[in-house]
Amino acid sequence: MSHLQQITVLGATGSIGLSTLDVIARHPERYQVFALSGFTRLLELEALCLRFRPRFAVVPTSAAAVALQGALHSGGVSTRVLVGEAGLCEVAGHPEVDAVMAAIVGAAGLKPTLAAVEAGKKVLLANKEALVMSGALFMQAVRKSGAVLLPIDSEHNAIFQCLPGDYARGLSQVGVRRILLTASGGPFRQTPLEQLREVTPEQACAHPNWSMGRKISVDSASMMNKGLELIEACWLFDAKPEQIEILIHPQSVIHSLVDYVDGSVLAQLGNPDMRTPISHALAWPERIDSGVAPLDLFAVARLDFQAPDESRFPCLRLARAAAEAGGSAPALLNAANEVAVQAFLQGQIRFPQIADMIDEVLNIAPVVVVESLAAVFAADTQAREIAEQWLQRHAR
Ligand code: NAD
Ligand code: MG
Repeated sequence: MSHLQQITVLGATGSIGLSTLDVIARHPERYQVFALSGFTRLLELEALCLRFRPRFAVVPTSAAAVALQGALHSGGVSTRVLVGEAGLCEVAGHPEVDAVMAAIVGAAGLKPTLAAVEAGKKVLLANKEALVMSGALFMQAVRKSGAVLLPIDSEHNAIFQCLPGDYARGLSQVGVRRILLTASGGPFRQTPLEQLREVTPEQACAHPNWSMGRKISVDSASMMNKGLELIEACWLFDAKPEQIEILIHPQSVIHSLVDYVDGSVLAQLGNPDMRTPISHALAWPERIDSGVAPLDLFAVARLDFQAPDESRFPCLRLARAAAEAGGSAPALLNAANEVAVQAFLQGQIRFPQIADMIDEVLNIAPVVVVESLAAVFAADTQAREIAEQWLQRHAR
């Protein structure tokens, strides 16, 4: 390798951010941390800055910047602290940066992630909501700048690994019949339907196989995560929604599969640990040690599959409908879901009402053609307003 690669980690204090730093720390001869961002856990961010000594850190407010700058100065670290979205965009697109880990959760990550794309960086995409909201514009920006977009979501990373290098010619051109997107089914896969009204945020966040942030954990419990991933896969691999089949695979060992016209089905397997896709994308096209234990298939013993039940998981139906509608529909879906998940986590609504709120937004807000980022954010704002009105009427 020619030089030490400079890495920006957006969302460094989160689950993906910390896993990324774990991998980076294993390879000091390859990677150097250029910038780290945090939003709430700022003492953790301070500790990370003292450990990794990045050129820049980004925090949400000026007051937080003053506090962090002072603490780092006392600790003998010369990191410069920047503020807010402008700071995030600056460290994402900085000329000295080689790769950006986009691991901010939700719509808040869209502009910084796009800044990395527009600057032609190697972009490691964990922030699926950014792509779901703005798919067409996002992929246009990738093509225009020549950015290298590598999926971190374990399923999409698996699909990427199972596709030939020239898949961008078109899935049918390279002999792909279907993409098989696996899902664990989350913590409520077998919960009696009538009990779903009573489940708590803690139960929803206790994922059987993966340890993740709270928002994506609730998305996994409702299977909206798989719905968002369906839309994500359509954009990443230029697939139609009907080319993607979702299957529940409770062991989370097969991370997804690609079905070819000759009957071959390629799968990527591994322990459920995000350091595998993170290492894959960081080093691609090379391979590096991730710290993940080798897969013990004797211990796994069996691999089960079942079709998802849409009466249990109505969010799947809503997401598929948004994928098929196109235009602003996925941005509406995503924003409504963000409001609903937040309301559920705060105890304002019951678990099944997440889908009810999203359904209401999709029924009321018109789907429009999206030709600018302004149109994406207009849809996002409209969806949040309708969702908040629904919440006023239904909150406990
Ligand atoms: P998390 O909640 O653990 O971390 C989120 C990060 O984003 C934190 O660093 C937080 O400070 C930052 N953040 C939150 N709100 C922000 C805002 N308004 N502005 C700026 N920064 C903000 O979440 P996570 O589990 O690490 O997930 C991050 C992203 O990766 C999500 O989009 C998620 O869907 C995706 N993802 C996560 C996993 C996983 O295993 N955790 C797997 C696949 C995809
Ligand atoms: Mg995933």
